[in-house]
Amino acid sequence: MADRQSSLFDTAPDPWELDSAEEKLVAEIVFAETPHGPYDYSVPTSMAGKLRPGQRVQVSFGQQREPRTGYCTAVGVKELRRPLKPIKALVDVEPLLADGMLKLTRWMADHYLCPWGQVLQGVIPSGVRGQAGTREMTFLAVAKEVLPLVKALAPLAEKLALEGADKSTKKVSLSPEIELPPKQFIALQVLANSPRPLTAPELCRAARCTMNPVNELRRKRLIEGTVQRIQNTEIDEVPAARESHLHLQPDQEKALDSILQPLKERRHETILLYGITGSGKTEVYIRAIDEVIGYGRQAIVLVPEISLTPQTRERFRSRFEQVAVLHSHLSDSERHWHWQRIARGEVQVVVGARSAVFAPTPHLGLIVIDEEHDPSFKQGETPRYHARDVALARAKQESVPLVLGSATPALETWQRGLTEEFRLVEMPRRVSDRPLPIVDIVDLRHEFRERVSTGAIGRQLTQGMKEALAAGGQVILLLNRRGYSTNIQCPACGFVVRCPHCDLPLTHHREEEKLRCHYCDFLDTPPTNCPECRFDGIRYSGFGTEKLEAELRAKFRDVPLLRMDSDTMQKPGSHEAALAKFRAGEVKILLGTQMIAKGLDFPNVTLVGVINADTALHFTDFRAAERTFQLVTQVAGRTGRGDKLGRVLVQTFSPDHIAITSAARHDYRQFAFFELPARKDFQYPPYATLVRLIFRGEREQLVQQYAELAAGRLREALGKTLPGKASLEHRILGPAPCPFAKLRGKFRFHLLATSPDGAALRQEFKQVLDALTPSDEVQWVVDVDPLDLL
Ligand code: ADP
Ligand code: ZN
Repeated sequence: MADRQSSLFDTAPDPWELDSAEEKLVAEIVFAETPHGPYDYSVPTSMAGKLRPGQRVQVSFGQQREPRTGYCTAVGVKELRRPLKPIKALVDVEPLLADGMLKLTRWMADHYLCPWGQVLQGVIPSGVRGQAGTREMTFLAVAKEVLPLVKALAPLAEKLALEGADKSTKKVSLSPEIELPPKQFIALQVLANSPRPLTAPELCRAARCTMNPVNELRRKRLIEGTVQRIQNTEIDEVPAARESHLHLQPDQEKALDSILQPLKERRHETILLYGITGSGKTEVYIRAIDEVIGYGRQAIVLVPEISLTPQTRERFRSRFEQVAVLHSHLSDSERHWHWQRIARGEVQVVVGARSAVFAPTPHLGLIVIDEEHDPSFKQGETPRYHARDVALARAKQESVPLVLGSATPALETWQRGLTEEFRLVEMPRRVSDRPLPIVDIVDLRHEFRERVSTGAIGRQLTQGMKEALAAGGQVILLLNRRGYSTNIQCPACGFVVRCPHCDLPLTHHREEEKLRCHYCDFLDTPPTNCPECRFDGIRYSGFGTEKLEAELRAKFRDVPLLRMDSDTMQKPGSHEAALAKFRAGEVKILLGTQMIAKGLDFPNVTLVGVINADTALHFTDFRAAERTFQLVTQVAGRTGRGDKLGRVLVQTFSPDHIAITSAARHDYRQFAFFELPARKDFQYPPYATLVRLIFRGEREQLVQQYAELAAGRLREALGKTLPGKASLEHRILGPAPCPFAKLRGKFRFHLLATSPDGAALRQEFKQVLDALTPSDEVQWVVDVDPLDLL
């Protein structure tokens, strides 16, 4: 049975049994579905030399009737003592991944405790696996043996053609054994003279015949066919207007030098480019890439998905000839087309969101991650990788520099800069010495106590907006919550209207006149009476972007404004269209969720308002302060980018919180200085590796029991590794209900494990998880280096 087959590299044959063993070509196969393997299969002689690691194969498995598709991860000669099942068929003619990428996915499997087959399935785009946008075609050529005979009779063919082959019925003899009717003879001649193999329809057209003669020739084996896969559609990209490089400022020169050094020495180094907003980081990347291309190598640039707007695209496309932009709206065939071009080395620069880290560049020269702190670089589903860590592994493996750029580096990254594992390079000034905006903190407690305002926009912010608009400037307002009212509660009995599947408060969306769950999209009708006690004065409160928009329309009647959140930006292209309007000045006020906080470069924005900086501050997440600092700093960076001075007003109920005061002073170092010791005290990253294990199921008690069982096993295993010091070294918190204790109808429990020794922790986790008996009722997922703790 296949599932008892052992693995190619894990078991060496016992020496005294070698005599009876037989040398065989064996392939190691892994699967995307359970059981994942690896399992060994024998390679039939017909496939020897054709099967290479990185190809998919079909094999039979256990008693299953249907063959399974798996990935070949190794091929080698092995001594066998018992027969193995043979591989049934090859799915791919060529490996989908080069050796280096296979190694990288292997690293991911180990690091993220995820079966290798699942990693491979997650990393290779479905358009590539399905060869979207291509089809197989048969190309015909004259069989090698008869080609000289055919060529020798060329003059006869010309004569026949002149006379008209239709009229003649006399057979032509190619050799004593081969006699052909004139139509077949002509077709053979046409094919012999073609500079390239032809498809059957092409040959019929050229020889002015029907399919019959061609089919006859194939039957007689005078014509041979080879199957090739060809691209159905060529994607024409309009070339961008070319622009020349800017003259670099001294800080930019220094930063560029630090990237070029390892590049020239062909070695890996990670450069943390800590440059404030507007310091000109992108220009530095572009110049480094220019150098890479000069060496005939390729560069990969990762940006947050939200930044893949035409602005970014054009910035790269105007400087380089061959740029592939990989965004999430690509169709399967477009993605496949890009993948093929990249693999052939035709693309100089790949710009894309996190999955672009797997771009199959044949000669990688550099990886850049812009806004490296952005949480979108972590994938929320299996394989739960972080593109920054995968990029680091890949850059080390291929001996190329990795550049991490940010105005607000993740503390994990910053720490590695401080310890000089990464090279820290600073760009502390804006381009042309433009000043950073002045940030004022508005104490909302005061505004409420004094009843100076009733809406979301306080007195100071209203005043600031009036001034900015009067002076011809544009305004950006950030409110990180969508919908109209974010809380619906009965003042008589305290009942809060919640999602029946997720147990989270529902948000009122007034445009569609519905209550909506922001996790599962459950919809309900807004009640006027309390569903619990029937009191008829249920209260709608709390501000979302929809309500903010209504308030703005009332306060600033004639000012054109635009709301940008995931409700208004559902159609592909709407994001770009909205930004284009804002850039053109047709829109004066842009309000929205965090999607407006990142990367935008609009010189005419003179005021940024943060409606409530506290929205993320009090989450039960050890990164809450960091998130808040990043969000406020990033959105503040959207102003003062032109000739006019920028201003920022931050409304908050926590004006003394370090995240807010240091963001107001643009002081990342101060924030890190205060935050890092707290992380150390509580043994959180960057001082420890964190692993989260989530359990979910429909029956709460079963989920809890299962979670406790797993936690018990882990405690036992981790205690054994470090006798006596378990509580000091590895720590397990929980299991406890997740902060979001019920989502989509499933109860959720989690446990968190932290350890200063990540490798040891992963090792123990793997063993315990492998030994857990699967349950039909309870599913679990493991998240290594989690960002989401809800
Ligand atoms: P960052 O990515 O650090 O926020 P950008 O790369 O977007 O900064 O640069 C901010 C602005 O400064 C952009 O409009 C860019 O075109 C401009 N800029 C960058 N470098 C230079 C330079 N050397 N000379 C003139 N303008 C520059
Ligand atoms: Zn829900």
